[in-house]
Amino acid sequence: MIFSKSLIRGGVHPNGNKQLSNNSEIIAIAPPKYLYINLKQHTGAPAKAIVKVGDKVVSGQLIAKGQGSSANIHAPQSGTVIQIAMHRAAIAGGGEEQMIHLQCDPENQTDSIKLEHDGKTAEELIQIIDDAGIVGMGGAVFPTATKLRSSINKKIDTLLINGCECEPYLTCDDKVMCEQSTQIIGGIRHLLTITGAPLAIIGIEDNKPEAMQTLIDAASEDDNIQVKALPTHYPMGSAKQFIQALCKVEVPKGKRSTDVGVVVQNVATCAAIYNAVRYGRPQTHRVVTISGGALEHPMNIEAPIGTLISELVAYCGGLKESASRIVIGGPMMGHTITNMHTPIIKGTSGVLFLQESELPQYNTSPCVSCGRCVSACPMGLLPNAMAELIEHDDLEAAVKQGLNSCLLCGSCAFICPASLPLTQYFSYANAQLLRQKKMQQKAQLARRLNQQRTLRLEKEALQKAAEKEAKKAARGAARRTRQPTISIKEES
Ligand code: SF4
Ligand code: SF4
Repeated sequence: MIFSKSLIRGGVHPNGNKQLSNNSEIIAIAPPKYLYINLKQHTGAPAKAIVKVGDKVVSGQLIAKGQGSSANIHAPQSGTVIQIAMHRAAIAGGGEEQMIHLQCDPENQTDSIKLEHDGKTAEELIQIIDDAGIVGMGGAVFPTATKLRSSINKKIDTLLINGCECEPYLTCDDKVMCEQSTQIIGGIRHLLTITGAPLAIIGIEDNKPEAMQTLIDAASEDDNIQVKALPTHYPMGSAKQFIQALCKVEVPKGKRSTDVGVVVQNVATCAAIYNAVRYGRPQTHRVVTISGGALEHPMNIEAPIGTLISELVAYCGGLKESASRIVIGGPMMGHTITNMHTPIIKGTSGVLFLQESELPQYNTSPCVSCGRCVSACPMGLLPNAMAELIEHDDLEAAVKQGLNSCLLCGSCAFICPASLPLTQYFSYANAQLLRQKKMQQKAQLARRLNQQRTLRLEKEALQKAAEKEAKKAARGAARRTRQPTISIKEES
């Protein structure tokens, strides 16, 4: 094992609370009666349903096709499509999305088959990943095939595998590393073929010794796969910080990791890649951490995509007390939901049921200019200054200060002695900027359509005038060429 000494800039040390759920094994639950399969499981456009109400489907069947760079979606369970309609989605700020409602038939499962997986070319492997609808499972939910295709013509020096899981409470990746190491290493071998990288490094925070040892053992015969321990330091799992810590290179602003010769994949994504190549298994399930002080028995559950959160809570023995907050993802970067009748998607790493005592206290006071938020910011920003600008509605100045580089990691808000909700300022500003951008785009579109209409009307008017002129000219010409009819009477 190689220990990396490098540290990321800034960051904080929140209480991990990982002990709540990291003691039990992953439990695969029986399929629920109904699944609500969101057509938007990934970044990019929603997938397009290719089944209709009344259709019978078998587990693993393609039910929605990825559009452009979005990802395919498959039935996690055999059953009948009973509705394709809007349903409450686990998105920030609430709202609904289009979903396929499946009534499951637990008796009717297809067995997985072993496929020939050796000797495949990079293109063939990417196609398998694409067909299987695999998306990044670390939270970014970017379609994996699209990410890999964009790396194919670049010189990749290092494949980085992210096993940091730096968010408090979350332990799903930790358990996947402990229990699915063969699949992870198998997936990494495929990724080495695809990227052409000579070396893969699995980075794991040093609070997961069992996962680290398991992966070291699993990779013992692979000279080109290393495991490196990283200090437990939030947000070590954020892609930019992770690359910085392991490769000591910084991804320049506006650039991608492939521009510095690096491809990053999450550990669970590697396992999904192996299952797709080895068994032809699409991404239909995921391991999700159900945790928090309000929950009776926190645990890691392997659940079909589309399972309602209420079903997962029931499986965990229900709630000890009503949760003060339900959070999707980790407490630092996740978002709050208000209703458990919401299904999980491919990117749902955790659902937390937090008690009052586990929440940040918002007895805010004015900024004391202590500068602690500045020291904590991993992106080297000035959170206090940005927040002040946003408070005065000067979003343009906040952008100049670096708002676009903000990871929304929450380190600054976590450390602030005045309990200022700094991250909320930045989320609000981003939402405002997005709204402004959409309005500008709408206005531009309206202007363009108006210009096109004006041009079309002018063209039609010119055409009509030309036609009128042409008709007039034709009539004149006809008059000029017409021969007079003269009747000549013959003399008798
Ligand atoms: S939320 Fe943004 S400003 Fe605050 S520490 Fe993280 S990156 Fe810096
Ligand atoms: S940490 Fe809070 S109180 Fe200190 S400078 Fe930043 S915003 Fe102000």
